[in-house]
Parts: sequence; structure tokens; C-alpha cells
Amino acid sequence: MPFASLGLDASILKAVADQGYTDPTPIQKATIPVILEGTDVIGIAQTGTGKTAAFTLPILTRLVRTRTNAHKAKVRCLILAPTRELVVQIAENVAAYSRYSGATVATCYGGVSERPQIAALRKGCDFLIATPGRLLDLGSQGHGDFSGVECLVLDEADRMLDMGFLPAINTIVRALPKERQTLMFSATLSREIETLTKQFQKSPKLIEVGRRSNPAETVTQLLYECPSSLKQVMLNQLLKDEENFKMVLVFARTKHGADRVCRKLEAEKIHCAAIHANRSQAQRQRALQAFKNGEIRVLVATDIASRGIDVDGITHVVNFDFPDQLEDYVHRIGRTGRAQAKGTAITFITRENQGDLRRLEKIIGKHLHCGKLKDFDYSQQAPARQPDDFVRERDPRAGAHNSERSGRPQGGRHGGFRAAQGKYRPFGRPGTRRTGGPK
Ligand code: AMP
Repeated sequence: MPFASLGLDASILKAVADQGYTDPTPIQKATIPVILEGTDVIGIAQTGTGKTAAFTLPILTRLVRTRTNAHKAKVRCLILAPTRELVVQIAENVAAYSRYSGATVATCYGGVSERPQIAALRKGCDFLIATPGRLLDLGSQGHGDFSGVECLVLDEADRMLDMGFLPAINTIVRALPKERQTLMFSATLSREIETLTKQFQKSPKLIEVGRRSNPAETVTQLLYECPSSLKQVMLNQLLKDEENFKMVLVFARTKHGADRVCRKLEAEKIHCAAIHANRSQAQRQRALQAFKNGEIRVLVATDIASRGIDVDGITHVVNFDFPDQLEDYVHRIGRTGRAQAKGTAITFITRENQGDLRRLEKIIGKHLHCGKLKDFDYSQQAPARQPDDFVRERDPRAGAHNSERSGRPQGGRHGGFRAAQGKYRPFGRPGTRRTGGPK
């Protein structure tokens, strides 16, 4: 089925052709006609399945076909996403697909100056892509006219709930017109997502495509036995194969763990960077850009920081640490083998991980063979630990004190909005504009 038969606007088909897409992916085939009809959709799909285009292309078609002067200075489609990185990526995609249709795109996310975002809100836009925290901040100050929102998209809704954004989302959605199309995308259909659907959507159509829980055929999964004390040695050895390990995303369990892996790789002259919640937005963007440009071969990330990373061409994902949340395994390995390219996911299995492995097999419904890495000297002495290696780390299973693992938003005041402000200001209510106050 070619794109042309899906009912999309000609200007959009031209932009899609520019991207080099020949055929729609399964999620695109299933959702585009339904969204074009104006029906609400709950899409169960992972990143890497082409879901951004699946919702953007039909919304864009609808907006282009109904554009009038009355839309000036208003927001027409609001897309909420859990992380700044994801917001930036969605915005890049939307801008590319809008190339010939002249749709306008603006973003709102934390960690950068509010001023240009406020200016963009004042101008209005066809697409506003935002993280809930920053949008709540700006909307509560009276910025942005949301009375014309025709379509709301909640992307990676499960992640937004995990990260504690529900109160912010509730406040934002209450300020939107009731008559609108609402699209929700999530990797899983949990009870919380079902509740959200009932609250925000009208007779949504459930579309579940290409569940990565039967992980993509494009990803080869290799599991190696590895004593905890030799993980770094094994990683170093693997990465010596520069010809094959061209672009490698390594997952560590904690921020300190990610930094430590990175330090050890640098000591081996392997160029790398770490991204996690302790890194500023600018540092994360720089690291991501350097990875995309090939200036560094290895990016070490924690689960939360990695969400939404849309980098094509990752040859290997290495699970240095087994994921705490088993579902993250599927998210992690989906970072390679994207959009039909082949990739390899390597997971180090320590003795402590054996039980997790059995549970993971149940989730993905597949036996995963765990063997020894060929040519690896399992009898070698573990290297002596350096003073830096003894940074105290909490096991997240023992309690949610490490903010990055706790699922709470970073540095935000989303949940405690009322308390933090003292006075509750309805989101986006005209006349509540605030010039000063806490930022
Ligand atoms: P997403 O799931 O939206 O993060 O998309 C994953 C990747 O697939 C992105 O790099 C897109 O550019 C790419 N992509 C989206 N749709 C298609 C398509 N129909 N054919 C080929 N690649 C696509």
C-alpha cells in the first residue's frame, strides 16, 4: 500500500517522499485513515515504529485543509511528550513533514530560556510540542491561547505517567476545548492508561501494531554471562572491534554508573559521553549531537535520559546493567534496528540477573539463550577498584530516593504546583498573566 492511497494532502506526500519513505509502516497504515476521519485513537506502539509520522501526517492534512484566518495567534494541535529530547525530535519531524504545507511549529520545554517560547505562544502555531511541566508553567502565567486546540496528542503516555506528569496533564487538558480529537500513544496498555483514555477520549479506536514485546526481527539479541566485576573489561573488549561496533548505545542503571563507565572508556581512549538527569539540557543536546555526527562512537545513558532518543544507525545496544523495569529491555533494544535497519543488542548477565532473565523471557514470550563471550578470559582477575568507583549508590528497589529512578520529574514543580505557587491559577485563563514571580 503506497502513501498516496491513504488520503493525505499532496503537499505532505511530497515532504514524505523527500524523507525517502516509500511505504507506510504498519502503525501508519492502521492509524492514518482513522485519524483523518477525526476519530480518537489509542495507539499501542513503541518508538522506532514510525508512530510520529502516523499521527503527524493525518493531523497535518486536517489542519492544512481547514486553515482560516480565525486560527491566527492560537494553538491548533498540542502534542505533549515526556522529555525535552523527544519534544525536539518530534518538532524536527513535524517541521520536515510540514515543509511544503507551511504549517508552523513551536516547542516548549524546560532547561532553556522561556522568552522565545513565550514569544512563539503569543504568535500562535499549528503545532505546539511541549513537555507538560514547562507548558503548565507558561500556561499558568497566561501565555498561549488554547481555546482553538482541535487536536491533542499524548505521546509516550505511559512514560509521562511514570514520570509523575499526571497532575500537570490533568490541568492542561481541563483548559482545552471539549470538542477536540484526542490521540494517545503508549508502549503498553496499562490500567492507568485505560483510565486516562476514559477521562480524555471519546469512543477511541484501539490500534495495536508491531508490539516490540515480540522484539523486532531486525534486532539480534545476544546475552553473555559476565561476572559483575568483569563487566567493564568485557565492554572494553567488545568495543575494540571498531569496524562492527560503529555506533553504540550503552545502558547503565544509575547516573553514577553511567559516568563511571564513561570514565573507564575514556581511559581506554574510546570517545564517549554520558547522558543522564544530572546533565544540563545543553550538555545532553551536545552529547546527542556528537553521537549523531560520529564524533563519539559510544553514548552511555540511563533509561530515563534515553527516552525518545531517535538516532538512526545505532549498530549496537549494550545492556551493561540489566534494566530494573523489565519493560525497559524492549525499549532499550528498540534503539537499534530502527526502521528496517539491522542491529544487535548485547546484554551482560550476572549471576544475580538469572531470575530477572527468566521473568523477561515470560514477558517477551521467547527463550533467550545466554552463553559465554568467545575469546573472553573468564578466569582473569578483576581490575582493582579506583577511589572514584566507591560513590555511594542506592538500589532503587530499596526505595525511590534517586530522583532519576524515582519516576518523579526533574527539578519541576508539576505535582506541587498549587503548593509552590501558594495560589492556584487556572491554566491559560485570560487575565491571569504574571510578569514576575518564581521561575
Ligand atoms: P518513530 O517511531 O516515529 O520514532 O520513527 C522511527 C524512525 O522511522 C524515524 O527515524 C523516522 O524517520 C523513520 N520512519 C518513519 N516512517 C517511516 C517510513 N514509512 N519508512 C521509513 N522510515 C520511516
